[in-house]
Amino acid sequence: QAKKAGRNTLRFFDPNMQEVINARVELERDLRQAIENKEFQLYYQLQVDGDGRSLGAEALIRWNQPKRGLVSPFNFIPLAEETGLILPIGQWVLDAACSQLKAWEQNPLTNHLSLSINVSAQQFKQADFVSQVQTSVQHHAINPNLLKIELTESMLLDNVEHIIITMVALQAIGIRFELDDFGTGYSSLQYLKKLPLQQLKIDQSFIQDITEDSSDQAIVRTIIAMARGLNIDVIAEGVETDNQLAYLRNYGCNHFQGYLFGRPAPINEFETLLESSRRYPRDVLLRGLAGT
Ligand code: C2E
Ligand code: MG
Ligand code: MG
Ligand code: MG
Repeated sequence: QAKKAGRNTLRFFDPNMQEVINARVELERDLRQAIENKEFQLYYQLQVDGDGRSLGAEALIRWNQPKRGLVSPFNFIPLAEETGLILPIGQWVLDAACSQLKAWEQNPLTNHLSLSINVSAQQFKQADFVSQVQTSVQHHAINPNLLKIELTESMLLDNVEHIIITMVALQAIGIRFELDDFGTGYSSLQYLKKLPLQQLKIDQSFIQDITEDSSDQAIVRTIIAMARGLNIDVIAEGVETDNQLAYLRNYGCNHFQGYLFGRPAPINEFETLLESSRRYPRDVLLRGLAGT
């Protein structure tokens, strides 16, 4: 037995380690398969103003895997980033989002809606990213002002000059930008001033305890004041309760996203919620119709 084990090149591996590796290999294989089989789906989460009226949505990817079920982006985006598979996945998201925007644009009840997509650093840094976006916008013949790109602060860590050049080029064709998870990363105020940003998205970790935690209150109030000074909009993410909403409104935040207004949902459910927000905006604001 020992002799046999001695010849085994994996003998220093913890068996658990081997399992982790196998799971990863399998996940990567399934992910490649998913791209070919088009197993991805966009979920949409409503964004509203201070009166509960719809402003738009954030597109959040889901993976419908035959044997795994619905896979959360937390469980496959990191591997997709490591393997480069995020590039074809990101392309798919861009195309699906433009196609949905086109559908909304054709209906007077929905033609005001913006749609935000999350873009990974690697995707954004591709030499031809600007032309990919331009091609998709033209292919679907959408109003580019309604397509928003969410970037994170961590992307600004290296080669920020290059990021700014790409942002400016995209802004020139009408695309708008949001800085996602704001406050959790490392953003120099110097950059904030230079970036062509339309919106800061306050990270949900600051919203969670905002009614009790005085540090979170101070941070959020500072972000709101700073954004106002820089003439950038603010949206709060992860709003789950009426009290959180009341606090945020009181301090001048007037764009919101969170379970209070609706969970991310497939397009049909999202459009039902949208209809309610149109007919009964106060209800959406006060009760969070889909917020279960
Ligand atoms: P994110 O962009 O910060 O998205 C917000 C996340 O918070 C979403 O998780 C959303 O479902 C969740 N959320 C929204 N409202 C609430 C709330 O009131 N309470 C709580 N507890 N959570 C709330 P999700 O959909 O699992 O997405 C996770 C992350 O995966 C996203 O974080 C984003 O970083 C990434 N992601 C999602 N879709 C894409 C995509 O198409 N491309 C890339 N590169 N990343 C994506
Ligand atoms: Mg986001
Ligand atoms: Mg976020
Ligand atoms: Mg996040």
